[in-house]
Amino acid sequence: MISKQRLTDEFLSLVRIDSLSKQERKMADALLKKLKAMGLEPWEDDTGSKIGGNAGNVICRIKGEPDRPVLLLMAHMDTVVPGISKKPVVKGDIIRSDGTTVLGGDDAGGIAVILETVKSLQEDREKHGDLYLAFTVAEEGGLFGARNLDLSRILADFAFILDDGGPIGSAAVKAPFHNRFLAEFKGRAAHAGLEPEKGLNAIMVASRAIAQMPHFGRIDAESTSNIGIISGGQARNIVCDSCTIEGEVRSISEEKIERYTEEILNSFRETAANMGGKAEITLERMYPGYNIKEDAEIIQLLKKASDSSGIPLSLHSTGGGSDTNVINGAGIPAVDISVGMEQVHSTGEMIRISNMEKACVFLTAIVKAAYAYNR
Ligand SMILES: [Zn+2]
Repeated sequence: MISKQRLTDEFLSLVRIDSLSKQERKMADALLKKLKAMGLEPWEDDTGSKIGGNAGNVICRIKGEPDRPVLLLMAHMDTVVPGISKKPVVKGDIIRSDGTTVLGGDDAGGIAVILETVKSLQEDREKHGDLYLAFTVAEEGGLFGARNLDLSRILADFAFILDDGGPIGSAAVKAPFHNRFLAEFKGRAAHAGLEPEKGLNAIMVASRAIAQMPHFGRIDAESTSNIGIISGGQARNIVCDSCTIEGEVRSISEEKIERYTEEILNSFRETAANMGGKAEITLERMYPGYNIKEDAEIIQLLKKASDSSGIPLSLHSTGGGSDTNVINGAGIPAVDISVGMEQVHSTGEMIRISNMEKACVFLTAIVKAAYAYNR
């Protein structure tokens, strides 16, 4: 049986642990201990050393009945700032921080829901197929944990990532591809008062390049772009010779993100060349997008879980990235389901205990639907 009290206690114990991105050591140790106490054999991978963090992803296989779909259940261990010394305050059904930090329900809510669901399945001796649990590091700011997860050791048919807000039963089934770029505009230094005509001001080149960007902000219903950082210059009396801008492009459509990115970067190069300068550009695909079709098997599983639990299913698209992008990109169909987190990434963050409990009911229904699923 799902225990509301046990779930609440688990959630409170998790959010009291400091676990900023790349500093998840205490959280990883706590989870390894909790999973062992549940009779499981978790392991930690070597992602920490690869990304300059102090902990790796914590992974665990729960052996189930053979020849059934294998599920991967995921949540991330890290939180955003301000996230040190989080003090959860419970008032009736609602848990908030004390107002000085985030709550960390993003994503301790996901971890607590997975742990409670597994405990309840164990207690009830519920039959299920193989389950993998993966608690990732450094999701915030780059999905670094998921990108380093060794999926050759996780042979899952479907993945459910518990890292979304909204009513329980809602699932993100579409998310954008994400490119990020850095453009360094090169000019020529000169004394700004004595002979500015001998210089070429890189700040001016960058400004014009930005002003002439062919796509900016909301490009179309499924695409966006942004410049987020600009830096350059050494002193007021020096014609600046280098100015760097950093930005991103996102789109649900891979064809569009490729085209928009190319058009933006070509326009940078052209503007710089026209002014006698140069643009040196580095481009990185941060993560792939996903777009799961209505008739996909994973959606059929969600529908069955919704029918059996009575929790209405609501499929939506999201503009952000999550571990779900990486898992889909690796070829395992994955959706991001809600655990009820609200106002995340702010000190006003909160979560309702009743929603987390409902998320356990929904996740249990998914596990049961997968067990009964005939492929
Ligand atoms: Zn999250």
